Amino acid sequence: MKSEKAGPEPSFRSDVTVELVKHSASDTDVLWAARVSTAGEQSLDELTKDPERSKGLLNYLMRDRHGSPFEHNSMTFFVTAPIFAFREFMRHRVGWSYNEESGRYRELRPVFYVPGEDRKLVQRGRPGKYEFLHGTPEQHKTVTEAMEESYRRSYAAYQEMLEAGVAREVARATLPVGLFSSMYATCNARSLMHFLGLRTQHELAKVPSFPQREIEMVGERMEEHWRHLMPLTHAAFNANGRVAP
Ligand SMILES: Cc1cc2nc3c(=O)[nH]c(=O)nc-3n(C[C@H](O)[C@H](O)[C@H](O)COP(=O)(O)OP(=O)(O)OC[C@H]3O[C@@H](n4cnc5c(N)ncnc54)[C@H](O)[C@@H]3O)c2cc1C
Repeated sequence: MKSEKAGPEPSFRSDVTVELVKHSASDTDVLWAARVSTAGEQSLDELTKDPERSKGLLNYLMRDRHGSPFEHNSMTFFVTAPIFAFREFMRHRVGWSYNEESGRYRELRPVFYVPGEDRKLVQRGRPGKYEFLHGTPEQHKTVTEAMEESYRRSYAAYQEMLEAGVAREVARATLPVGLFSSMYATCNARSLMHFLGLRTQHELAKVPSFPQREIEMVGERMEEHWRHLMPLTHAAFNANGRVAP
């Protein structure tokens, strides 16, 4: 391998980003879908004239896991996160659509994940019962240096292959899962709640989950957007133990 680095200089990040790029999602979408059961089609005025009744209906639907009224809405997020978080994300099959940037059609940019100072580094316990603890400054230094060195080497190998005329789809095999990728992810409130129930930790959760911190960071940012779009649905989700209906 060539000793000199080719191509753009690698950069390192500890955050993820989630942008809400489009949406058609409100609490009234849920009320509208649910009330067809008993009242047929209703106008927006009729739907919203009794806020307490609306809250009560949302709470009942959530509590009794009457889930389909929560599907008549849509949110599209643009997510940037490391590939290892996307691998976990794309296990969520139901009510999600994904489109991710291609490593075949474009040259991948050298942006890599390194854990931030607040990211717990030490794992104790056994599978299913892990506890994560803060690392020492020395451990943080080791992690940062080892990752950055490894990322630089693999990106240099990638560039070397591209310069030698090798196809992007072949050369990318040398890149690690700490590389940042980007995708559009579209979901509805029901599929988002299922995701949040599994991929975030929360004091109100009836069924605790133990997600990897990096996918949880994505989940937290999505939840923040969703909370503003559908505040009553979000409140009912929390009030009912964060179990998706
Ligand atoms: C903390 C944690 C640890 C994990 N560890 C591992 C691991 O070690 N290895 C690993 O491979 N995965 C692991 N996973 C991934 C996990 O097994 C799920 O694939 C992922 O969480 C997506 O959940 P889901 O299948 O419920 O979601 P979705 O695919 O969105 O499905 C939603 C719901 O639809 C129903 N459904 C979907 N597909 C089917 C089907 N084929 N048959 C019947 N019902 C269906 C189920 O009710 C399901 O809950 C882990 C997940 C978490 C949260």
